[in-house]
Amino acid sequence: MSCVFCQLIAGDFPAHVIYEDETVFAFMDINPVAMGHVLLVPKTHYETLDQMPADESGRLARMLPALVRGVKNATEAEGVNVLQNNGAVAGQQVGHVHYHIIPRVKGDDLKWNWPAKKVSPDELTELRARVAVAMNIDERKGL
Ligand code: 5GP
Ligand code: ZN
Repeated sequence: MSCVFCQLIAGDFPAHVIYEDETVFAFMDINPVAMGHVLLVPKTHYETLDQMPADESGRLARMLPALVRGVKNATEAEGVNVLQNNGAVAGQQVGHVHYHIIPRVKGDDLKWNWPAKKVSPDELTELRARVAVAMNIDERKGL
């Protein structure tokens, strides 16, 4: 078994566990980008979010409000980022689905590169259609 998160879940290596149940596992990030940086993972190994069954993803995500509250109150953060990277190109280093819960304070040294682009309504219409079709959602539903 090579996945480090699976090994932590199995108890092969120590983790600073905050919460666990049959399907989810939350613990302190060993190399935090801010003090109080928490990771939330499913106990079953899925590499990326798109590989997860929706109900398991739901059981994972339902822990986010409590974890955000916990991190916020424990650290007196003024805000919290929830990040979820899929694929190396998106910054994913550990190939086991995880959410980062990261406390933020004014003046901290974290900055996300967010180069917002101009896009035409026609381009949005075309992209909307492509994504909706790729999701197999009936376009007539107007989603
Ligand atoms: P990614 O870059 O894949 O989105 O984030 C992986 C995260 O896992 C990193 O923030 C890294 O510090 C954390 N991490 C990697 N190995 C371990 C480990 O063995 N224990 C813990 N607690 N966190 C880890
Ligand atoms: Zn794993």
